[in-house]
Amino acid sequence: MPKALPLFVSACALSVPTFAQDRAALDALVDKDVLAAHIRFLSCDELEGRGVGTRGDLLAQRYLATQLQACGLQPAGEEGSWVQSVPILGITSQVTIPLRAAGENGEASFSAPDDYTAVAGSPATTAAWQGAELVFVGYGIFAPEQNWDDFGEADLRGKVLLVMNNDPADDPDRFAGKTRLYYGRWSYKYEEAARRGAVGAIVIHTNESAGYPYQVVQTSHGRENFWLPFVDGAPTLPVRSWCSEDAAKKLCALGGKDLDTLRRVAERGNQPPVPLGVKLDLAIENTVRELRSANIAGVLPGSDPQLAAEHVVVTAHFDHLGIGKPRGDDAIYNGAVDNASGCGGVLTLARAASQLTPRPRRSLMFLFVTAEESGLLGSQFFANQPTVPREQLVANFNVDGLNIWGSTRDLEFIGYGKNSLTGLASTIAEQRGRHLTPDSNPDLGLFYRSDHFNFARIGVPAAYFKAGKDFLDRPEDRRRMKNSYTAVHYHQPTDEIAPWWNYDGAVDDLRLLLECLVTTANADQAPRWTPGDEFEKARLPSGQGGR
Ligand SMILES: [Zn+2]
Repeated sequence: MPKALPLFVSACALSVPTFAQDRAALDALVDKDVLAAHIRFLSCDELEGRGVGTRGDLLAQRYLATQLQACGLQPAGEEGSWVQSVPILGITSQVTIPLRAAGENGEASFSAPDDYTAVAGSPATTAAWQGAELVFVGYGIFAPEQNWDDFGEADLRGKVLLVMNNDPADDPDRFAGKTRLYYGRWSYKYEEAARRGAVGAIVIHTNESAGYPYQVVQTSHGRENFWLPFVDGAPTLPVRSWCSEDAAKKLCALGGKDLDTLRRVAERGNQPPVPLGVKLDLAIENTVRELRSANIAGVLPGSDPQLAAEHVVVTAHFDHLGIGKPRGDDAIYNGAVDNASGCGGVLTLARAASQLTPRPRRSLMFLFVTAEESGLLGSQFFANQPTVPREQLVANFNVDGLNIWGSTRDLEFIGYGKNSLTGLASTIAEQRGRHLTPDSNPDLGLFYRSDHFNFARIGVPAAYFKAGKDFLDRPEDRRRMKNSYTAVHYHQPTDEIAPWWNYDGAVDDLRLLLECLVTTANADQAPRWTPGDEFEKARLPSGQGGR
């Protein structure tokens, strides 16, 4: 039996209670071998890369639930089980009539996926543009709180919107300057187009506004894309499209318009949509398949009768890409870092937390979500229909990939400054002789690209921990190895455990995270958003998309 661990925090009046004397005892609960063992199992070949709806998916679910039970947690899924079943639709679209455009300057045909991509945004078996009018809508943003409206009074029903990616970056006081807000994500553009009754939206790709080359958007074309079941009556967009910048210029020119001029004017904000004088034809056929996965949840009940109903949730996605295109003779995408490591980390935290005496005041929920790689679907499903009342979710910490390169002084904190978890985690990091760094690529919008986003979206203060870069030992070597993971192994069959893996950094980060969890669970006040943050009012509807 673990020895009782005295925690004085509940008596502490400070808003961020500290662990001072108890830190060593708390840290001892996070065990490196436990972590390594979980990662080894979850990334083994026999789980076949944990692809959504596969046998590997089911086996991973069984393992996670079994381990939570073995820690002595309570089930927190549906009807007293560990499981929240998640129905998923797989939709594969095929272009049956390629894109054709006609305007005062003539006609042109475009070919997919070189010039454009087209996939379904609804479960209908077909979708078509028949002489649909093309309208340029700038950034396609409606943000009254930023005094920005690209739509005005225009009636866009039945039209196709041509829209710029990202959000305005020039003014540091608007749209958080260079930081990409949700308004800058392509999924937002499609959701807004659907709300306006459009029949399609074409996002103009540029390397700068996307942060990745056109080849990346081409991969969604012709492939099976995954969705949660569509809610009856919710707005859908029949066709989601991207086009290359050249194709966008050509489309505008057919109507006698110049894309550069249109974009320059749109940057001023509050410009009305511009009908381009171009009509479009396109048709796609969609094959729809139903599959099933699940989220797995366990809870350590809080010890304070008043606060126990409130839950601090720690999440990690357990799905990965399954079996796919072989590289060499290996076709199993093990996802050892992404995200067997995060799941192993959360299981390690669950075991550590279950040994705390007394238990934290608020409840701690350990939630493993599915289908992150397919568009954050498991966490979206949970956020739409949480297994405890929505208002009882008070914070979310997300783990997606642990540090397997070695100890660092820093820890990257995605969502830095957005809510009070930043101050709490910073204080704890400094007491540990470490420090938090803000998102190193704010223009990429990482805050909207893992599961914590779906908690933010329903108003739950959320944060995402990422491995640091300031290595204590042999910094050059380790930084090179870390960069090579992103460049060579990320989303490849070679994301596997290797003999050189070093768990010290992961253990340090988990210890810090455990202290953040317990401190959040014991604090007098629940976390809150920074006043004026885009999620403070949680006004974003929990729609589709957001990968
Ligand atoms: Zn991941």
